[in-house]
Amino acid sequence: MALKQNEVYICPKMDCGCEIRVTKGAGPGAGSQSPRCCCGQEMQKKA
Ligand SMILES: [Zn+2]
Repeated sequence: MALKQNEVYICPKMDCGCEIRVTKGAGPGAGSQSPRCCCGQEMQKKA
């Protein structure tokens, strides 16, 4: 899924716990990869 504005992504790694918020969404034609945390884990969209 492409990044959308104000979506929150959280790092699934227990001892990391980093959260990011999208301040500007991706434009049309952007890829569908999830963002990756600085610790190397793929981040998951927070429900
Ligand atoms: Zn992390």
